[in-house]
Amino acid sequence: MNLDLTDEQQLIRETAREFADREIIPRARENDRAERFDTELVKRIAEMGYLGAPVAEDYGGRSLDYVSYGLIVEEIGRGDSSARTVVSVQTSLVAGSIEQWGTEEQKREILPKLCSGEWLGCFGLTEPGTGSDAASVATRATRRNGGWSISGSKMFISLGNNAKVAMVFAQTDPEQKHRGVACFLVPTDRPGFSSQEIHGKLGLRASDTAELSLDGVEVSDDELLGQIGDGFKIAMSALDRGRYSVAAGCVGIAQGCVNESVKYAQERRQFDRPIASFQLVQELIAEMVVDTDAARLLVWRAGHLKDRKRPNTLETSIAKYYATEAAVRCANAAIQVHGGYGYIDEYPVERYMRDARVTTLYEGTSQIQKLIIGRHATGINALIPE
Ligand SMILES: Cc1cc2nc3c(=O)[nH]c(=O)nc-3n(C[C@H](O)[C@H](O)[C@H](O)COP(=O)(O)OP(=O)(O)OC[C@H]3O[C@@H](n4cnc5c(N)ncnc54)[C@H](O)[C@@H]3O)c2cc1C
Repeated sequence: MNLDLTDEQQLIRETAREFADREIIPRARENDRAERFDTELVKRIAEMGYLGAPVAEDYGGRSLDYVSYGLIVEEIGRGDSSARTVVSVQTSLVAGSIEQWGTEEQKREILPKLCSGEWLGCFGLTEPGTGSDAASVATRATRRNGGWSISGSKMFISLGNNAKVAMVFAQTDPEQKHRGVACFLVPTDRPGFSSQEIHGKLGLRASDTAELSLDGVEVSDDELLGQIGDGFKIAMSALDRGRYSVAAGCVGIAQGCVNESVKYAQERRQFDRPIASFQLVQELIAEMVVDTDAARLLVWRAGHLKDRKRPNTLETSIAKYYATEAAVRCANAAIQVHGGYGYIDEYPVERYMRDARVTTLYEGTSQIQKLIIGRHATGINALIPE
């Protein structure tokens, strides 16, 4: 077992760290306050080659290994989870799915635009009435004029108001249940497609979150990703990548909590001493350090397996479950270290808390991750009723 990063991976990490410090962190608070989706920042992220980094160079990506991609996402996540969401959705959910399931034509046409940031893409799985039970999507695709007509709505879709292409999961034959689900690559300027901004979020305020409405949107067979009936498999394979990215971002939040807490505890004085000298404060910090290390190692293991194209659904779920819960714990502890100052946005820890909170909900809640882990441990699938 070799836990050393290669020289190239270390350089990638250093570059991403400097980029986050220079470009992301200085804008994070204002973007959060203004609920601003920062398209200028998205452009800079794209210029760094951070959109579609693991996608093959032939299609406009950088052909990076998954461990390196995780290092980039960790640093961006340390900077701002709203910016990290752009990278995760665009790269892991959308570009990764098109690279895995698309035709050569789809890959050549869409991937370079996604990797360069010319286009944003979104992943439309969740619906107002369908969340964890993703196989039960109610959006309907019906055969019309040699193509398909799609009607339904999608809820909580990241990047949905800015995307040029939407992956839309729709049911083609309700009797087939999850075997009838298909995934379509829908141009968002098609008649019948509309999006609405969702505001009032606890965190990820600088992230674009949308409700999508599809009213008889016409798509051709060429706009189908994979085959009819592949939709559920496409969604699950996308989530295997997306969960890795969320987990890596959460390692960044946890590390940010450690960094901020150590700095603050060394500077802040009470009882004539720096608060870092109090054992109970050190306990808070020590627990954060352990959580951060454990989460990072779980992410690296999942990345290591992905790089070797070995099965990794279980290990990715473990990493996602642990890292997201760890980020919430660390952010909570970091606020405690900061005292009352942790409760206002002069310091980033309250944003870390608000931003971390959604990560135990999206891309499969912590309960869903536990059921995946439990299924592997017991051989019994608790997600399918007897
Ligand atoms: C900011 C944000 C961004 C998002 N971005 C996207 C996106 O880009 N694309 C997209 O498709 N979706 C996105 N989502 C949706 C997200 O993936 C869902 O919210 C999530 O899957 C949970 O679904 P739900 O909200 O319907 O909750 P539900 O499925 O209704 O769950 C409610 C509660 O019940 C529990 N529960 C459900 N089923 C079980 C079970 N079998 N056993 C035990 N407990 C269970 C859950 O764990 C949870 O605690 C986003 C959500 C948010 C908030």
